[in-house]
Amino acid sequence: MAATVIDGKAFAARVRGQVATHVAALKADHGITPGLAVVLVGEDPASQVYVKSKGKMTLEVGMKSVEHKLDAGTAEADLLALIHQLNTDPEIHGILVQLPLPGHLDEDLVINSIDPAKDVDGFHISNVGLLGTGQDSMVPCTPLGCLMMLRDHHGSLSGMDAVVIGRSNIVGKPMAQLLLGDSCTVTIAHSRTKDLADVVRRADIVVAAVGRPQMVPGDWIKPGATVIDVGINRIDKPEGGTRLVGDVDYDSCAAVAGAITPVPGGVGPMTIACLLANTVTACCRANGLPAPEGLTV
Ligand code: NDP
Repeated sequence: MAATVIDGKAFAARVRGQVATHVAALKADHGITPGLAVVLVGEDPASQVYVKSKGKMTLEVGMKSVEHKLDAGTAEADLLALIHQLNTDPEIHGILVQLPLPGHLDEDLVINSIDPAKDVDGFHISNVGLLGTGQDSMVPCTPLGCLMMLRDHHGSLSGMDAVVIGRSNIVGKPMAQLLLGDSCTVTIAHSRTKDLADVVRRADIVVAAVGRPQMVPGDWIKPGATVIDVGINRIDKPEGGTRLVGDVDYDSCAAVAGAITPVPGGVGPMTIACLLANTVTACCRANGLPAPEGLTV
């Protein structure tokens, strides 16, 4: 039987709808408008596209959107001063510094200078620690989106075998923490993993976050497993031009899996939706209000 296609685009539209409802309620009941500030340093074309689309969607859900575009040569002290200013701005509830930063800037220092309560990317070391110890935190957007889709599809994930391929700080590791938090038995695979095919074949849930186009073939997938494809890779088409593919070979995996996310239209749209969800969560927490249910873990 063909796999159920998990429609991330439609799911993300639902999440944005929920966010918009909460934003409207915060305005009407408390006179508060959640605000998101995005800081972009330099002219990386992909980053410019992401920042533009984040700003557009922030406004669409009724939030305040602020963009700070800085020259590629911006001094670290000036960037830190801007972050300090945003940390203390009561109208800003979420701060996102678009990565990667130009090489002369210390990414860890910059991220860890963001107020953890406003760190809507969830990369601050305090949020990493809170997530790792099962406490309320800001959860990185891409893994949060993956978890939302998995919960929606399966209900409970308790007792399932999950394999996360990739151990980056922004996807693989937090994804594994979230699955562990939902009582999966979690394996994290990486470039040194022996017999990756055998490891993946044991999984009820496979999350691929590698950055290698179509690396996971269908014969690695346990029949009926759920496949979440985080990868975004651009490859050449035989007839010319390019197209986006994930880290799994979609056709062969979809023939075996029980459910699968497509690329594009799977995990990607959920990432921005979760950024907006995190901003509402941060705004609620900053104002002593309960975080909206269903928009965080
Ligand atoms: P990184 O490059 O930071 O990490 C890749 C991971 O894959 C590493 O842990 C690496 O292992 C592992 N890896 C590399 N080669 C292999 C291999 N042959 N077998 C097993 N593991 C391997 O990437 P990111 O986590 O930042 O991103 C992963 C993918 O997800 C990319 O395609 C990226 O574009 C995409 N992405 C998509 C997002 C979305 O919104 N949909 C958001 C963020 C990322 P090791 O540690 O041993 O080197």
